[in-house]
Amino acid sequence: MWFFRSPTIAFGEDALGHLCAIEGRRAFIVTDQQIAALGFVDRVQEKLTQVGIGSEVFAEVEPNPSLETVQRGAAAASAYEPDWIIALGGGSAIDAAKALWILYERPEMTPWEVAPMGSLGLRQKARFIAIPTTSGTGAETTWPYVLTDTEGHCKRSVGHPEDIPDIAIVDPSFVAQLPRQITGDTGMDVLAHAVEGYTSLWHNAFADGMCLKAIQLVMDYLPRAFEEGCNDPEARERMHNAATIAGLGFGNSMAAMAHAMGHSLGALFPIPHGRAVGLFLPYTIEFTTCGDAPTRYGEIARFLGLPAGDAAEGVASLTKAIRDLARRIDQPTSLQEAGISLRDFEAELLKLVENSANDSALVVSTRFPSEEEVERMFRYAFEGKSVDF
Ligand SMILES: [Zn+2]
Repeated sequence: MWFFRSPTIAFGEDALGHLCAIEGRRAFIVTDQQIAALGFVDRVQEKLTQVGIGSEVFAEVEPNPSLETVQRGAAAASAYEPDWIIALGGGSAIDAAKALWILYERPEMTPWEVAPMGSLGLRQKARFIAIPTTSGTGAETTWPYVLTDTEGHCKRSVGHPEDIPDIAIVDPSFVAQLPRQITGDTGMDVLAHAVEGYTSLWHNAFADGMCLKAIQLVMDYLPRAFEEGCNDPEARERMHNAATIAGLGFGNSMAAMAHAMGHSLGALFPIPHGRAVGLFLPYTIEFTTCGDAPTRYGEIARFLGLPAGDAAEGVASLTKAIRDLARRIDQPTSLQEAGISLRDFEAELLKLVENSANDSALVVSTRFPSEEEVERMFRYAFEGKSVDF
């Protein structure tokens, strides 16, 4: 037995207007200072006021949010007693809100105790809306969340299927002014989610269509969104949808090895998540398809209309298309290009390999690498050479 989980999704122009259709008394808005400064919180509060819903704002979420921030937010929510939690922001704000919501509902728990089995008993006090302001993480459709354990000096991914948002509001006006660099970085994350969701061990027929469509949207619209920005609202809207569609795809299958290596890199070097996972994607495809085991990458190439006469040609066309896309949107295609020196790389290599080998995303790779193979892949990715085993 398997499940396909999804929030109700309001998307397209004026999707934010859906807030006027909800019923409640008080909403607790979880966001960060930057988003508040952009006036986005005001827009949300305006809609809530129209339908008589009061609100309080917690704008203290930092990038890579910590347990302490979540606990502070949960205490503020408990004092306010909202019947809606509204996350407004990128993956950090949405993840913090998921954890904060759990603590509000279950104050006796810590977010680390949350495990994806049994009943969590959410929605006794509040329901949950996520409004993404980047087109990337897909966190508005998924239930796992990542918090920083400041005591353990690491990031931890936990969650329970119940903490999936009730409603995702995918309104392209929130990404109209997204800076170029963030457009590129987050766009590569969407691509990695969709390709890995389609090809992971846990791929399934319900997630497949989501993944394929998201890949196609990224290939067609990410260069335009990157190059034209707010002058191409169609490309912005398609990329915003693509992020959510890819979230539904990989959220109901799983991201794999490019995410394991990307998480590891991002923990040791200041490289944004999407840039890191996008960089590793072609290398991990090459690794996974070395040998005779059948893979699904050729199907993606065929769906995109790329040359795919046989499996090998399909893989070659797909990796070339991904690297061409990356170059077109100023993304690094090697760790050297990402600004990592040989000295720093060698100093951290063991840790990079160890972190990747311990990452849960690795488990669903259709070809499971040994630590030695992971190390060789990092070396190929450092130099920008195609993987050959
Ligand atoms: Zn990702």
